[in-house]
Amino acid sequence: MQICNDAIEVNQIVNNWQQQKLTIAFVPTMGNLHAGHLALVKQAANMADKVVVSIFVNPLQFDANEDFNNYPRSLDADLTKLQNLTHLVFTPQSEHMYNTLNQTRIIAPNTLTNMFEGKFRKNHFDGVTTIVNKLFNIVQPNIALFGQKDYQQWLILKNMTTDLFMPINMVCAKIIRDDDGLALSSRNQYLTAKQRQIAPILYKVLQKTKQDFLTNKDISLLENITFLEKSATAKLLEQGFDKVDYFAIVNKDDLTKNLSHNKQAIIIVVVARLGNTRLLDNLLV
Ligand code: AMP
Repeated sequence: MQICNDAIEVNQIVNNWQQQKLTIAFVPTMGNLHAGHLALVKQAANMADKVVVSIFVNPLQFDANEDFNNYPRSLDADLTKLQNLTHLVFTPQSEHMYNTLNQTRIIAPNTLTNMFEGKFRKNHFDGVTTIVNKLFNIVQPNIALFGQKDYQQWLILKNMTTDLFMPINMVCAKIIRDDDGLALSSRNQYLTAKQRQIAPILYKVLQKTKQDFLTNKDISLLENITFLEKSATAKLLEQGFDKVDYFAIVNKDDLTKNLSHNKQAIIIVVVARLGNTRLLDNLLV
């Protein structure tokens, strides 16, 4: 496994692979790796000849209220976990990726960025699209893998590659969960023991909502949806969550309420808070 913090060097390595007609799968991360990240890396290894993982806590996707400085960093442990799973780990420095934060950016359409996560995290997605663009240009992957866990991010990036004619096969990988159903996330480590006990209720409520949605045929789709969203939110608050930022049943292709009667085209997205920790999850119907 090669470890490299220099973009030009990474570019040379991948160019070399390309000359040998080897395919490249890429998994961008912010480090603090858990089994969810590693599942992406293993899936990548099954899809291409070479696997590249990047570890970079991207300052541009944090807003002023979020704690970029306190984001958990564990580079040594991450590199140990990646050993034997990947060919190249790219660990750039902030000052190399951005010599100033005021430079060219990729702006995703606001129809996708002004709702859900975008409402709670100002400019977050412009930071994501900008860094992923830079990374794609450096790594030049044939395939890039992202987690369904961050579904809105996945959708925005998928649209970006289509809109900008980027010849990259975008893969959305399934959510890896703890045994009790809690989606793995770097943020789970912020939970107290008591909060950790409450946290799996999020997935249970998602599953119950999906089940009710699929079995309830009596009322029209939109009435049904409003009722289910309200009762799920109430249930989460009743069970000990401190706040529900959103719980929404939406069209999986554009995250709007333009719902066809094709129930396969629907996703349930949620963020609920335990203390200051925002737990993000979703379930495809
Ligand atoms: P992050 O380091 O949080 O930016 O995540 C890097 C990638 O891992 C993103 O594509 C995430 O969607 C994905 N990811 C995070 N958590 C999980 C999980 N529990 N299961 C699968 N993929 C995940």
